[in-house]
Amino acid sequence: MIDSSIIAIDGFASTGKSTLAKMLAKHYNYSYVDSGAMYRGITYAALQNHWITSKGLEEAKLFEGLKSINLNFEPLTNSLLLNGINVSKEIRTQEVSNNVSKIATLPVVRDFLVKQQREMGKRKNIVMDGRDIGTVVFPNASHKFFFTAQPEVRAKRRWEELKLSDPTADFDSVLKNLIQRDAMDSQRKVAPLKIAENAIEIDVSDLSVAEVFTLLLKKIES
Ligand code: C5P
Repeated sequence: MIDSSIIAIDGFASTGKSTLAKMLAKHYNYSYVDSGAMYRGITYAALQNHWITSKGLEEAKLFEGLKSINLNFEPLTNSLLLNGINVSKEIRTQEVSNNVSKIATLPVVRDFLVKQQREMGKRKNIVMDGRDIGTVVFPNASHKFFFTAQPEVRAKRRWEELKLSDPTADFDSVLKNLIQRDAMDSQRKVAPLKIAENAIEIDVSDLSVAEVFTLLLKKIES
């Protein structure tokens, strides 16, 4: 069985998955879902509620707390609502980036989010980007892509984005965080980041956004 209305884009951090996923969604009039924002939303809630402290993660509190978390991704504005409050800016801080991959290793968190992501795919045509979309969430997606790029190219991209909201952002910390997240995401036991069966791998290091977009359209339509 093929889920003909689902385009899955997985890959390493800051390879431009979200930018391209949004462009594809607009082009085909599909909905867009940023699954990374959902993992960031749980991480932000965990920090706010002190389920993560300087001593580490209070797993029991997090598991209990998940029951009171309601996440909604608004495709039109690309906003993440946490219990009705727009936290789109808050989930992009370096503090959230530094903790999200730890939270994303927890099977209870993944089950919680994967269920919601699959529901979103039932209701409409979607483009979803993340780390396990082609492998776990929608293994039968009709189109699967896997983005890679050199770490320095990715860190520069992310750093330039971050500087707009935080002028003190520092390139070395951004690079370190990307490398750590990639390692944790690829090595975790549940749903590790890896290329899905039948996925097309694209190294975006030397390609412009427009070039990647043209390539994706060519692959989808061929
Ligand atoms: O996409 P983004 O870089 O915002 O994702 C943040 C983190 O969320 C990733 O580094 C990863 O740990 C986690 N994630 C995941 N599975 C997904 C999407 C994101 O584990 N499908």
